[in-house]
Amino acid sequence: MLQATHLTKTYGGIAAVRSVSIELKPGEIVALVGASGSGKSTLLSMLAGLTDADSGDVRIQGERIPGPSEVLVPGHDAIRLVHQEYQLMPNVSVRENITYALRFFEKNYRDFRVNELLTLCRLTDVQDRLPRQVSGGEKQRTAIARAIADKPAILLLDEPFSHLDLPNRLIVRDLLFDLVRSESTACLFVTHDSSDALSIANQLGILRDGRLIQFGTPTDIYRQPATSYAARMTGLVTIVKAKHLPVLGLPASDHPETLICLRPEHVHLDDSGVEGQLRALFFKGSHYELEVELSRYVCLRALSTRNDLQIGQRVRIRVDEKAVWKLNR
Ligand code: ADP
Ligand code: MG
Repeated sequence: MLQATHLTKTYGGIAAVRSVSIELKPGEIVALVGASGSGKSTLLSMLAGLTDADSGDVRIQGERIPGPSEVLVPGHDAIRLVHQEYQLMPNVSVRENITYALRFFEKNYRDFRVNELLTLCRLTDVQDRLPRQVSGGEKQRTAIARAIADKPAILLLDEPFSHLDLPNRLIVRDLLFDLVRSESTACLFVTHDSSDALSIANQLGILRDGRLIQFGTPTDIYRQPATSYAARMTGLVTIVKAKHLPVLGLPASDHPETLICLRPEHVHLDDSGVEGQLRALFFKGSHYELEVELSRYVCLRALSTRNDLQIGQRVRIRVDEKAVWKLNR
């Protein structure tokens, strides 16, 4: 449906987005994860037809979307972008902010659709308040309701979870699921925090310095990250050189300088394992995250549900050999 090919954008000699190609299908949620400055907002703005690309193009159903320098009214009817700062009208209510997006529709339909959106976005109780009188989560949902009011085929969201507390993140997550299911909207969101991306997206991309360095399902990228950056952007990880594998109780590798990536859930406390010292212990509610030092050069992240651990104590750990994953760099 939406197809971007080799999008590139340079600001004063600095490449913000470099030859990014990406496709979005109906009813699909795609997430792009990248550090701050990796080009996420610039890419979204080009996808929405709000920033001119230096080269490459964006097509919807095969039709090229012109950049803002080519048209009087930038953007495309089928694509909506929810900005990170929401950009609500401050002096009118939540309801009126949403209604405004439907101002060209007949009143009966408009009232019906606004009520439907208020329900979908869980805003019915706060509909008469001004934006400054509602929470960050409600502002975010107002911005989403306004964006989807006239049923765009494509919804783009810039860091939709970054200002929200956990309960509100879950509400927005469910809202995106509902939207994709009930209206077959295609969603693409960008984020610097992969935890939401891993759980929501059908497809996940990793952006680094303007380049899309990996694209695939969340499970594939989590388990088989291409590089150490992709591994770190998608969760807790230990990265060690292959020459240290024997210290972990694993067979030596032919390529000592190759980087190995290990997720903490594959490192277990086990009395038959190799010995180390517990360096750190972080309570995470359902479990603990541990750091276990095996030598001066090797400290592994592990998970445990045991309640009797003390920092400094000797522990034994075992690493699942089949979970060892070699990185490209
Ligand atoms: P992200 O959203 O991932 O934080 P951005 O797309 O905002 O990244 O920015 C990518 C790079 O492009 C950054 O180095 C940023 O400083 C630069 N950049 C973004 N917008 C502009 C602009 N309007 N003028 C100059 N440089 C910009
Ligand atoms: Mg940004």
